[in-house]
Amino acid sequence: MTKPRYRCLRGYTIDPGFSTRLDTMVINESIYKIKWEDLEPGPIGEYLEIIDFDPVNYCFYEPVDLDSKEILGMSGLAPSEGDAQFHQQFVYAVIMQTIENFEKALGRKIIWRSNLVWKNGKADEAQEYVQKLRVYPHAMMDSNAFYTSEKVALLFGYFQAANKIEGSNFPGGAVFTCLSPDIVAHETTHAILDSMYPRYMENTNPDVPAFHEAFADIVALLQRFSNTKLLEHQIEQTRGRLDEYSIMGELATQFGQALETGRGALRSAIGEYDKKTGKWKKINPNPAAYQNAMEAHDRGAILVATVFEAFMRLYNFRVQDLLRIATQGSGILPQGSIHPDLVKRLATEASDISSHLLSICIRALDYCPPIDITFGDYLQALITADTDLSPEDNNGYRVALIDSFRAWGIFPQRVKTLSVYSLRWFPPQLTAKEDLAMSLMAAHIKDDIREISRLTNRELIAAKYKVLQKKLHTILDKPITTLDKKWKSSKLKQKDWDGFLKNIGVVKNIKPYSIPYSDGILRFSANPKLEVHNVKHAFRKGREDQQLEQVIISLTQTHRVESGEYRGFKFRSGCTIIINILNDVMNVEYIILKRFDKDVRLIKQADYQLGIGASMTMPISSYDDPRKSINLNFQNLHAH
Ligand SMILES: [Zn+2]
Repeated sequence: MTKPRYRCLRGYTIDPGFSTRLDTMVINESIYKIKWEDLEPGPIGEYLEIIDFDPVNYCFYEPVDLDSKEILGMSGLAPSEGDAQFHQQFVYAVIMQTIENFEKALGRKIIWRSNLVWKNGKADEAQEYVQKLRVYPHAMMDSNAFYTSEKVALLFGYFQAANKIEGSNFPGGAVFTCLSPDIVAHETTHAILDSMYPRYMENTNPDVPAFHEAFADIVALLQRFSNTKLLEHQIEQTRGRLDEYSIMGELATQFGQALETGRGALRSAIGEYDKKTGKWKKINPNPAAYQNAMEAHDRGAILVATVFEAFMRLYNFRVQDLLRIATQGSGILPQGSIHPDLVKRLATEASDISSHLLSICIRALDYCPPIDITFGDYLQALITADTDLSPEDNNGYRVALIDSFRAWGIFPQRVKTLSVYSLRWFPPQLTAKEDLAMSLMAAHIKDDIREISRLTNRELIAAKYKVLQKKLHTILDKPITTLDKKWKSSKLKQKDWDGFLKNIGVVKNIKPYSIPYSDGILRFSANPKLEVHNVKHAFRKGREDQQLEQVIISLTQTHRVESGEYRGFKFRSGCTIIINILNDVMNVEYIILKRFDKDVRLIKQADYQLGIGASMTMPISSYDDPRKSINLNFQNLHAH
């Protein structure tokens, strides 16, 4: 018997609090359509394992069996705040929806970060494959929820709402963070981002923690705006005010409210209610904000607001014609309800923009450097990734994004003007010999990539990637013995190879040395370690049906730096390499590089992590122990 394609599961559209508000009650139940998979009670599936242990009450709640006839027959359990089994069903639905969005955009399967294996107090190279992300819907009594990379798990807390009325939360009632689709999507995004770039857990500049937070919010926000039913309802409710940003703004404000547990900054970055008039007002972009906001959430909120701004620009642009048609050309809607057909069309436009924007934002991740990301890097990644996949851009997505980044004052460092052309990553500038070295490297892994492209089992894929990482490591380190005959016939010299390595952020044969710094020196240790983090194969489709087959490689080199007076730190260089496969030929398109340099970036990081440059010092208020604050800790970050 053929299996169904989807599993329908009932759940909340926005937070459960909105079910008790008369105006949102009718729409706060949605059907989540999740790709079918056989499930064990838990639910436990291919990607997830929901473990419902509640340490507060010291009990396990009975795991829900979503494959049981009764539950299948009613499209899952009915939403209920008091039913732990519904909570299990709901986190499963939202996490799977988020994973599906990522897989669709990235064109490959998500593989979780591997578990570190500790030997004699040191992390061992042989990392353990993690098949399922572990999810605890009732992990603690706390108004917090977080992702932990050590355990590769999501932990959701619950709490008694504060004794003040905040939006639609009743004072005193229990609030479950696992029932907020925004919070669940946010935490899932942390887990996926960490699986792609484990080094983003290192706080090397103020944009890094802010990016983790912002990106998680962007995914949650755009997922919410993809829900046509919710949009239709809001558009209908706010009828004549379509041209005043209101609908989206109100939704976004509720979103900020929903994430209020430790994430209040978001709400004020997008918009706020005017206390006098009670009307929602969008906050106008402030180009100075990015220079001044140092705390992760304040800074992250700027990036969220930037993407929201792009969304609003696209929406207003795209609905102009509909409004003109509906108003005989005036564009101003009369009093009274607007026509249900118009409501539908406007909602469809908004949800369409939202899902495209979500794909664009996710896809850009592959075009980011593997370490030390800045918002400027992300803007360049957005523009390059989207130009590659949707060259025409008839609907102006890239222009809207660039305009919004400009309005919020976010510029990449080396770019003087913001245009699609200047923002694109450039193809590698290599000499003929360096180019030959690079093609030898790409050709060396081609057969393995071919094999991986035919696999569907995630564990097998992960195992093959691991082999491939080793293989790349060996060729980068010892090209002469690895390539043997090919090396001889290529007539390359080791110095040509070293030249190529320099272009991917790797330096060879380093002896210990030091440079002057502040009122002391920085000492570098010899022979920095090379790590090949990720090799990924992707097959993706753009808005204009353009298809791309790609290989994405990310690698870093670690330089240990000691300072006489202060503690030491790790300074990393490296790159993300994007290879396009066309007619069975591997072409290196981009090398997204964080160069090993002894000046600008190094000094900035030293100032930031050692606490020397006052304005750029890493804010430690959100961490327990400043000495450990190099690594992000979402439990502390979210509780802040
Ligand atoms: Zn977060």
